[in-house]
Amino acid sequence: MTEPTPGTEPVCGACGGPVRAPFRAPAPEIAPDLDMRPGEPARSTLRDWIQLCPACGAAAPDLAALPSTARAVAKSDEYRMLTTSAPEETLPFRRWALICQRTGDRPTQAEALLQAAWAADDAAAMTEPARLRTEVAALWDGTTDIELGLRRLDVLRRAGLFQEAEAWADHMSQHGPDELAATLIAFQRTKIAARDIGRHLISSALPPPAHTPYVSQTNRATTGFWSRLLRQ
Ligand SMILES: [Zn+2]
Repeated sequence: MTEPTPGTEPVCGACGGPVRAPFRAPAPEIAPDLDMRPGEPARSTLRDWIQLCPACGAAAPDLAALPSTARAVAKSDEYRMLTTSAPEETLPFRRWALICQRTGDRPTQAEALLQAAWAADDAAAMTEPARLRTEVAALWDGTTDIELGLRRLDVLRRAGLFQEAEAWADHMSQHGPDELAATLIAFQRTKIAARDIGRHLISSALPPPAHTPYVSQTNRATTGFWSRLLRQ
């Protein structure tokens, strides 16, 4: 994200109306979850990550970065109908996901839906977290990216899709994971066997000496939304 030049206010990429600059989350001081939800203090700022354009209703972390084609999405019946599905805390993320889907940004759509699942977790929703994670897992199906593959494994487990998670762990194990990936896969297998759908920190899955290499590898490899958000 670029700093706006002094004196110029950011404008919505969809409609050209004035908007606020993107939210800047504080850097995480605690390890992320296995699905890369950042630790505190960034974690609890989730509700501030998405901004809503007051003029056209488009939703995104950075409204100025939206393509002009987002305007038609924000005006569509499907976009308006999203308000009827619960829980309300997930709505900004589901709006952004729909814009990503309709404008052809599938990787960001998956990140938006996973963030919607986090919002649903925080709202203690009953079925929505699993439903949203099932959508994310479908979007990440067949990925050859190691980090996305590991996150997909966590998403499947936390959705309660234990058979699919086990099969995906097998698939990843057969494609030459490095030592760190193999350690995380083994950790997930014990949780899958225990039918555990809870959140776990990456640090709890790795022996202490492995923390630093994994974190640095992750920082290099992660191109997801949250790392861009937290890079400030
Ligand atoms: Zn707008």
